Amino acid sequence: MSQIRNVAILGSTGSIGRAALDVLSHLGEHFHVAGISCHQQIELLETQIESFLPRFAFATGPIDDSIAAWQNQSVSGVPQRTIRQHGMDALVSFVQSDEVDIVVAAIVGIAGLESSLAAANAGKRLALANKESLVVSGSLMMEAARANGSEILPVDSEHSAIFQCLQAGRGKSDIHKIILTASGGPLRDWPVDKLSSATIEEALSHPTWQMGRKITVDSATMMNKALEVIEAKWLFDLDPEQIAVVVHPQSIIHSMVEFKDGSVIGQLSPPDMRLPIQYALTFPNRIPSPSPKIDWSQSMHLDWKPADQERYPALQLGFEVAKKAGTCGAVLNAANEAAVDLFLNKKIKLTEIATICRQVLDHHHYSPAPSLSDLQKMDQWGRSEVQRWINAKC
Ligand code: MG
Repeated sequence: MSQIRNVAILGSTGSIGRAALDVLSHLGEHFHVAGISCHQQIELLETQIESFLPRFAFATGPIDDSIAAWQNQSVSGVPQRTIRQHGMDALVSFVQSDEVDIVVAAIVGIAGLESSLAAANAGKRLALANKESLVVSGSLMMEAARANGSEILPVDSEHSAIFQCLQAGRGKSDIHKIILTASGGPLRDWPVDKLSSATIEEALSHPTWQMGRKITVDSATMMNKALEVIEAKWLFDLDPEQIAVVVHPQSIIHSMVEFKDGSVIGQLSPPDMRLPIQYALTFPNRIPSPSPKIDWSQSMHLDWKPADQERYPALQLGFEVAKKAGTCGAVLNAANEAAVDLFLNKKIKLTEIATICRQVLDHHHYSPAPSLSDLQKMDQWGRSEVQRWINAKC
């Protein structure tokens, strides 16, 4: 690795963005943080500017007086002045510019779609943590990447695992199926009839992963795995029938590939997002990482069992959406984001999230080959439909 790679971290103040900066602080001189962005956590962004001295920093949240003043400030005593800009348009122009070789897409939710697509269209290496980009617009993303020579390297730990395992085969035709592992979330041992009484705190206490609130709730409902089924279908060009989900409580096997001959290759490591982030940055090279290693001096057992569809009705939705594609991913994602928000605001029960998503999905006007603007409209429609559902219920 002789050439310096300029890295943009979109969503640098979130949990994946912070982990990406930690990785970059260990990677040494071959990687340079060219730009970072936040929604509105300016204070933390400023701390990151001080540590990494990027040439560009962006805030993409709503503009107010303090953001306007922030854009114009200069930093005394810092050798290289960071250019601070506001807005998604500015961030997208930066992502497409020659300042950037690798884009770490770590913005949460649908808000990350535009910048991920811009990176694919500009032929950048895209270290993709924003799974919504593929869930909502997988067809457009993969087409943009193909047409412009963009490499999409998954940061989602399961998909990174699959990507790593696939290096043992010689292409898609060697794959029999892939096996996505799921921790089962914080409520995996609760009786099914008690799940509706889960509180926000209970849904947020994940046993193996420290993540943001939205994804932790998705993990409790298994919607996260449903979205990952859709993500895997696009990323690896698979039929949904080739995707299996097993509950693996230890979160050590991050996923597996079963090849045609029956050989199964898995990727194992202690749960730590810095490893898949680093692999997406350094691929095909492997270099020492700050992530912990398995302690082989200790006994360990690994177990798994099939995911229970009754316990996790959201999972069924994931397979259906992966099969139907078109506008379904945008609708499921929007309905889920809106429903999780309602749960976190104590308006609905945890188990109602999948119920609402099912209803919204079943009532949407399906289109098999939507444009980006169709998908954005569907996203808005999905959210308003959830609001309509809750208004009708009250
Ligand atoms: Mg994951």
